[in-house]
Amino acid sequence: MLKFKKLFSPLDIGVAVLQNRFVMGSMHTNLEEIEGGFERAAVYYAERAKTGVGLIITGGISPNIQGCVGPHSAKLSNREEVEKHRLITAAVKEADGKICMQILHSGRYGYHKDVVAPSPIQSPISFFKPHELTDEEVWKTIDDFGQCARLAREAGYDGVEIMGSEGYLINQFLAERTNKRQDDWGGSYENRMKFPLEIIKEIKKQTGNDFIIIYRLSMLDLVEGGSSWEEIVKLAKEVERSGVHIINTGIGWHEARIPTIATTVPRMAYSWVTAQMKKEISLPLIAVNRINMPEVAEKILEENHADLISMARPFLADPEFVTKAKEGRDDLINTCIACNQACLDHTFQLKVSSCLVNPRACFETIYPIKPAEKIKKIAVVGGGPAGLAFCVTAAQRGHEVVLFEASDVLGGQFNLAKVIPGKEEYAETIRYFSNMLKELKVDVHLSTRVDKSFFDENTFDTIVLATGVHPRIPDIKGIENNMVIRYDELLSGHRIAGEKVAILGGGGIGFDVAEYLLYETSPQGELHTQHYLSEWGIDKSLMVPGGLITPKHVPPAREVHMLKRSSGKYGSTLGKTTGWIKKISLANKKVNMISGIEYKEINDRGIVIVQNNEDVFLEVDSIILCTGQIPEQKLFYDLKHLSEEVCMIGGAFEANELDAKVAIEQAFRLAIQM
Ligand code: SF4
Repeated sequence: MLKFKKLFSPLDIGVAVLQNRFVMGSMHTNLEEIEGGFERAAVYYAERAKTGVGLIITGGISPNIQGCVGPHSAKLSNREEVEKHRLITAAVKEADGKICMQILHSGRYGYHKDVVAPSPIQSPISFFKPHELTDEEVWKTIDDFGQCARLAREAGYDGVEIMGSEGYLINQFLAERTNKRQDDWGGSYENRMKFPLEIIKEIKKQTGNDFIIIYRLSMLDLVEGGSSWEEIVKLAKEVERSGVHIINTGIGWHEARIPTIATTVPRMAYSWVTAQMKKEISLPLIAVNRINMPEVAEKILEENHADLISMARPFLADPEFVTKAKEGRDDLINTCIACNQACLDHTFQLKVSSCLVNPRACFETIYPIKPAEKIKKIAVVGGGPAGLAFCVTAAQRGHEVVLFEASDVLGGQFNLAKVIPGKEEYAETIRYFSNMLKELKVDVHLSTRVDKSFFDENTFDTIVLATGVHPRIPDIKGIENNMVIRYDELLSGHRIAGEKVAILGGGGIGFDVAEYLLYETSPQGELHTQHYLSEWGIDKSLMVPGGLITPKHVPPAREVHMLKRSSGKYGSTLGKTTGWIKKISLANKKVNMISGIEYKEINDRGIVIVQNNEDVFLEVDSIILCTGQIPEQKLFYDLKHLSEEVCMIGGAFEANELDAKVAIEQAFRLAIQM
């Protein structure tokens, strides 16, 4: 159980108001950009504040138009905007919480024509070339930061966080990579760090000493031409001297080709960076990135790597995280699995963020969980993600729920996902749902296959079919050969692949299977972090500016070929914020990806494909089928004659591009309507 310690003796700035060491970190949800979004954001934040989060930091708000991330992104630069923010601060205060607003100027990361930067160098992740700020415009921008903080104070915020990391404007001034100026704002590091220091000075001037200021410091840029550790420490000391109250950790610019928060990144993979900074300064420091359970937070605090723990996505996944941690009910925490599928992928698609394992996140006002008007007896068939999600919400509403699962375990396809190296977190979702079923007294029947005759003899008000999918077997000559293995046979451990493998299918499952085949064993614990740092070339010695060194790749455990019929690029269906990681990872392991082919024949020595109208023979020991799924719908048609309501959800409803996010959301929505 997490030990809650009082961190600060009363400081004159009010940091002692922190009730515990959990900070809900900044995460842009796009709520502030939609009609009625501030009202929704108010409920979203207040729900988290109620559970005793020490401090909430909002998503990034720009100090002016040029700093907006997109053409219609939220900013705070006038009185009218103050009123909207009051909705958030009032709701959080009523919930007895504390909230700081993050001020974020996107600089050259902006997606609009007015983008600005210290130098006119276009970022690799934006289409827009920035205008180089003149000296006068630099001072005006500093003033805008100060005004934004003052307006935040007027709006009722307890403080602000200055976003000085992730490659946004302040970072762009600090690093030689993006600052080529010859004037007082460029050249020496003293000149380059003047920009953030003047911003802090201006904010203090406009807000006073009793307003919390957090500075998010980029401690590891993970780009060529990034800051050196010596420079970062110099800035940290100046930031401390300038009267900032807390320093938050920033890891990696957005343009860095290094995963820093995805599920492939080990838990607490970066707390060692914050620990190094703790040796240099005495301000309270916040640790970030891949901290998703109380035990991880506790380890970081016990090892004195940081004073406070910031989590953003885990509070999307479970608004009651802190309450459960306090009460030692960690086994009931709905853990963030770092998939990014409903949060960051949505943010970058300009959709409202939510959470794969908690579709209610950011939709609290739209999807309230109310007691059912009429209690129903509901049979749920299938204990995969969709079936489990339905059971939990339906039971929370008071329905009498009975779950039938044909296998001897709950979790369905997540049992296959959890064995993929880097997807081990999926086991947490099965653990959460399984424990919630016990908590909510759902009547669970494992190893129980139900059929038409069962429902002829047993009566329910509603039957929900979450019967999932089965793999599609393509029509290829020789498909019955013993070297052919279905993906579910492989990942469940029932079959083992040989040394040379061809994967048929280039979708998400094909990528997962490739990852599984490339590693003999998946490293765990500290070894996992070492493996990750060396595979991606991250300098733990902090000797290299930017923090990048030559990666050292562990040789692949097998020779792997991926084959697909369509001619498009590999990975086009993968998530926006994680697909590139999978593609780089497989390229590093020399996976041979071939597209636009036909499968001609499988024989005892391998597979013949047709490529550019010519037969090509690939000699392999095993062929893994990742060629899609077919919905398991037989029971639905068998029950057509029943007068009871029969519903179908998840893969059983729609198997194309099988997607846990859609399945869980569909299940949740059905459960709140019933
Ligand atoms: Fe975490 Fe995935 Fe939910 Fe995002 S969508 S909060 S990464 S579980």
